[in-house]
Amino acid sequence: MGDLVCVTGAAGFIGSHVVKLLVEKGFRVRAVVRKKDDERKVGHLGRIEGLEIFEADLTAPGSCDAATRGASLVVHAASPVQLTSKDPQRTLVDVAVGATRNVLESAARAGTVRRVVQTSSIAAVAGHSHASSYVHTEKDWNPDARLDVDPYALSKVLAEREALAVKASLPAGAGFGLVSVHPAYVLGPLLAKVHARSSPSLVREMLRRKLPGCPNLGMSGVDVRDVALAHVRALEIEEPAPRYVLSDRWMWTREMAEILAETYPDRRVRTMRLPDALVLLGSLFMKRITTGYLRRNLGKTRLFSSDLARRDLGIEFRPARDAVVDTARSMVEAGWA
Ligand code: NAP
Repeated sequence: MGDLVCVTGAAGFIGSHVVKLLVEKGFRVRAVVRKKDDERKVGHLGRIEGLEIFEADLTAPGSCDAATRGASLVVHAASPVQLTSKDPQRTLVDVAVGATRNVLESAARAGTVRRVVQTSSIAAVAGHSHASSYVHTEKDWNPDARLDVDPYALSKVLAEREALAVKASLPAGAGFGLVSVHPAYVLGPLLAKVHARSSPSLVREMLRRKLPGCPNLGMSGVDVRDVALAHVRALEIEEPAPRYVLSDRWMWTREMAEILAETYPDRRVRTMRLPDALVLLGSLFMKRITTGYLRRNLGKTRLFSSDLARRDLGIEFRPARDAVVDTARSMVEAGWA
């Protein structure tokens, strides 16, 4: 019988891949979801044999006690994923930090957990202060994560600090190992239609011709299957580092659109570069992206090294092109895009 692993955020894009891989590798898995009977979000997990599903609103203290009882490993992937919000302190920061505290305290109370892997983000590593040529590593903490500038980044920085604080507060000998993994922009096959609301939304919008063209923006990307593998290896290896950055390479949105246009010519994906001024003007009418974000990011690269994950976790990152094509293919074949 494999180790018992509790996974929060198990119905989400990344969490679902972590659960799938753990089950394939013979672990016993408890999936923590917000509502068990939400077919739209949880239906795909119900089809995985042997999976135990637990319900929890992680903002409630003790909500993860039942799911962590007797577990030896925990993956904490649940967190709100949105760049903007009307009340970012309450809906992003307080939820991310509170959920982290509650999950780690449940893990500590269980008394059986020997390691927790927390899903953080490159948003906790990189801000906009460094020059475009600077290569970020695990040593970096985002110095620009402020509520008014980038509340999502702040939620990830503070959630990681909260996890460290909970771990530090535990009596010597009673604690667990803590590893945070920091994925870049995650692409790759979706396991449920609802996952298109997370990072794959950009590919879907391109396929559906919802974007008038390509803004001069880009992202460091990583495939969700490599992200899942990094989580599992971080649980498995004897002496993991405290942090791992997970990123394949930088890709401009235009390159992404060109890959999609080439793969699905019938979709007539728009590949034209949009002038920055037009993009800034358009952002005034967009909910998901702010003008401030665009001012800080238009034309800028943000680079990362994942050498540590390659070396320690043995990850050979899938090429970014494959991640883009496989994201699209999973949506097109299922009729989700
Ligand atoms: P996702 O699909 O939205 O998954 C997040 C999951 O967390 C959802 O199932 C959500 O449930 C759950 N959740 C959030 N707050 C909760 C709460 N208070 N109680 C119970 N469940 C809660 O997003 P994702 O892309 O898989 O992201 C997973 C993790 O990876 C997050 O920590 C995110 O910050 C991190 N990350 C993502 C990316 C990316 O590009 N996607 C990159 C770097 C890091 P509901 O659906 O019910 O809200």
